[in-house]
Amino acid sequence: MNTTTSEASSSRQNLKQPDQFVYFFSAGETDGNASMKNILGGKGANLAEMTSLGLPVPPGFTISTEVCAHFCEAGGTLPSWVKPAAEQAVAKVEKILDKKFGDTTNPLLFSVRSGARASMPGMMDTILNLGLNDQTVEGLAKASQNPRFAWDSYRRFIQMYSDVVMGMNSSMLEVTLEDLKDEKKYKLDTELTVDDLKHLVKKFKDLVHSSTGQIFPTSPWEQLWGAISAVFSSWNTPRAITYRELHDIPAAWGTAVNIQSMVFGNMGDDSATGVAFTRDPSTGEKVFYGEFLVNAQGEDVVAGIRTPQPITKEAASKMGLPSLEELMPKAYAQLVENYKKLETHYRDMQDIEFTIERGTLWMLQTRNGKRTAKAALKIACDMLDEKLITNEMALLRLEPHSLDQLLHPTLDPKANKTLLAKGLPASPGGVCGKIVFSSEEAVIWKEKGEKVILVRVETSPEDIAGMVAAQGILTTRGGMTSHAAVVARGMGKCCVAGCSEVDVDYATETMRAKGYVFKKGDVITLDGGTGEVFQGEVKTIPPQLDQYFERVMKIADQYRRLKVRTNADTPRDAQMAREFGAEGIGLCRTEHMFFGADRIDAVREMILAENKFEREKALTKLLPMQREDFLQLFKIMDGLPVTIRLLDPPLHEFLPHDDAETKELSNRIGYDYDRLRSKVKSLHEFNPMLGHRGCRLAITFPEIYEMQVRAIAEAASVIVQSGKKLVPEIMIPLVGMEKELALLRELTIKTVEKVQKEKSVQFDYLVGTMIELPRAAVTAENIAQHADFFSFGTNDLTQTTLGLSRDDAGKFLGSYVSGGILPKDPFVSIDREGVGYLVKLAVDMGRRCRPSLKTGVCGEHGGDPESVEFFHQVGLDYVSCSPFRVPIARLAAARAAISGTKSTTH
Ligand code: ADP
Ligand code: MG
Ligand code: MG
Repeated sequence: MNTTTSEASSSRQNLKQPDQFVYFFSAGETDGNASMKNILGGKGANLAEMTSLGLPVPPGFTISTEVCAHFCEAGGTLPSWVKPAAEQAVAKVEKILDKKFGDTTNPLLFSVRSGARASMPGMMDTILNLGLNDQTVEGLAKASQNPRFAWDSYRRFIQMYSDVVMGMNSSMLEVTLEDLKDEKKYKLDTELTVDDLKHLVKKFKDLVHSSTGQIFPTSPWEQLWGAISAVFSSWNTPRAITYRELHDIPAAWGTAVNIQSMVFGNMGDDSATGVAFTRDPSTGEKVFYGEFLVNAQGEDVVAGIRTPQPITKEAASKMGLPSLEELMPKAYAQLVENYKKLETHYRDMQDIEFTIERGTLWMLQTRNGKRTAKAALKIACDMLDEKLITNEMALLRLEPHSLDQLLHPTLDPKANKTLLAKGLPASPGGVCGKIVFSSEEAVIWKEKGEKVILVRVETSPEDIAGMVAAQGILTTRGGMTSHAAVVARGMGKCCVAGCSEVDVDYATETMRAKGYVFKKGDVITLDGGTGEVFQGEVKTIPPQLDQYFERVMKIADQYRRLKVRTNADTPRDAQMAREFGAEGIGLCRTEHMFFGADRIDAVREMILAENKFEREKALTKLLPMQREDFLQLFKIMDGLPVTIRLLDPPLHEFLPHDDAETKELSNRIGYDYDRLRSKVKSLHEFNPMLGHRGCRLAITFPEIYEMQVRAIAEAASVIVQSGKKLVPEIMIPLVGMEKELALLRELTIKTVEKVQKEKSVQFDYLVGTMIELPRAAVTAENIAQHADFFSFGTNDLTQTTLGLSRDDAGKFLGSYVSGGILPKDPFVSIDREGVGYLVKLAVDMGRRCRPSLKTGVCGEHGGDPESVEFFHQVGLDYVSCSPFRVPIARLAAARAAISGTKSTTH
């Protein structure tokens, strides 16, 4: 990610005209292929690949992403060398199709399509039917013997071009069209007559002129240069930039432009356009899955202009609609043959776009389809069984972060609920939140800490930020392939789409369903798995993991070298983590046990004690409770390693924080109020993070650790005496100096041995330390003399190495990341150069001193896939993370191992 800025600036310094920048695709002559996404963009590369595979693709050419950099560099103008090359390519298409661009008898028309390396909403919308004007439209009418089609294409062209190239507000023309339909009492666009369309074209052109001050361009070439420039310009629109930032896409990549001859799905009832997935993108089921519209063009299907029909007979019959399979059996059969070919070729589920012109099928796009995590797992397993992919491919294709979706709660089927409406189950999950009607509002409410559901008639690329901020998305229009559905699935967000039983009124910010009226801020619940919408908040249940999840995890386990443990302080967490596959506890924070209602007062008595005697008295009360805590954890973990960290936080955290609380406590435990107040005051610290905490507590009050070690040893004795195996790992936090650990290790060993003698049992145990101070890392060789293990506390190590307080960094860290000073938030993903360097140093030095040294990490980073890769590379023994991230770490560790062997063998 570091390369983002340097790539951009170096390319700025020496931009050279590329040797080739126009890549042709037509049957028998194709310059590109699927591996050339970097210069052709995903769409262009796949158009070339499909053409080479012999699929019917309308011929055209791609202007490479490299030209985008030149265009931006020149402040938004096309370099002089682009036009002649494009003119040559157009001439070639003319020859192949025996039509002429701008011809008044048989005109060639183009679509102009953007296409970056990664599929990217936020880029320019496609322009169709480019090349039409008052003369060529007549030619098209004559050549096709279908004037209605010609004028429909023309009015569409003006709508698209004025919107995306001339920057006109598209709703103005939309409203004009709707008004005319109302006036004529039409329900559908397809009812518009030739005269209606001619009238609209004239009206549109006038409106464009009056609102933009520009004449709608009549010259086809002027139209073409305008459209190409608009595609390149769209690379730097705010919404494209937002999307890039969200997905770590470097600005230097640029977009390509595809100029492709048109085929027409709007030629009548023997024509159609559609989109399809080779498998169900929501469940992963192996069924051909898609939607289409008869007599329609381009984005009509996704935009929800009419309700699209399912492609297959089976799916359509459920909705009482005719299918493509029945209406156009020949084209359907071809489509089936093509999708199978594509899936086998790409060895992955494909998302395809097609158009049927007078019964003839044309393929317009293919790409690896976005899918939910649930679908991704099922598809991977099925493709393994079909021998389409290998284990390694399956694992490398699954994004560890996406597993997070599966680990979220779903709605409790037994909960009481009031059904409001049913839409399409576009993306699964059970979420509830307050409704808002705009993306801006979703973002603002989220920042205020609210959970929101974004309710829209439909979404567009401008809504990305709002969709990110929302818990879930509800739309009233659009199908399973609508923008909302596709984007939500990609994000792993719950989405109910096309829910026409809900009425949305943006003006009053209300939503109606089943006679209820909901205002902004009212709570609803969505079930993205069934498409249901419920009133109020519905209870949820923990996630249920299926066989596909288990199978993929088992495969991952065969590949990974890193062990995966969990951070757990309670039996509940420990139990859950085991179900997720944790191989031990890497961090049990004992302070959480101190906060329990039944013991906090005993903890306070211990803190308030005036002398060792009083302190020991209070600790005696705590001992049995701590012993019980550990015993439970040991039982659940059943022989797996358990690392227990001795008390870490500064003591004042356990005392009351304000006067009222202080008064109450003084009454309850019979401790003089003024003395209590001054005690609280005396424990105040300016920098508690760097204050009297961690092992420093035990240097001054050894009795605390003594009690904790005794509790651990006594619990271990019970386990061992019952005939079970256990090797407890006792961890001393915040060690900076060798001597600290030496002293506390001695104390620990003495205490354990005492217990062993009292109970007459023997068991092995380890004494180790957290490495969370730079001094500990750089003196690791000495520290390792007293440590059986190192556990890197990378949260604190990040704070102390960067001198950055996690709780205060929020204000400025964002600017550091967006300004490229730091590649990523160092609390999320390990700072490899700094903190990571210390980890590696300490591991190497520690092992030099003690070859058997166990090493692990127990910070948040232990569940971050990129950090896990790093920990694999530096050779740690294990990572430990929160229970929900255990599966993510297992997959990440396997992927790191696979990529590691790849990079050494190649
Ligand atoms: P997106 O990147 O949003 O998917 P596309 O460039 O794929 O945009 O274009 C959207 C739709 O426009 C396509 O699905 C297809 O229906 C239509 N389209 C694009 N190019 C052509 C063409 N050459 N002929 C007919 N329709 C086209
Ligand atoms: Mg497309
Ligand atoms: Mg710490």
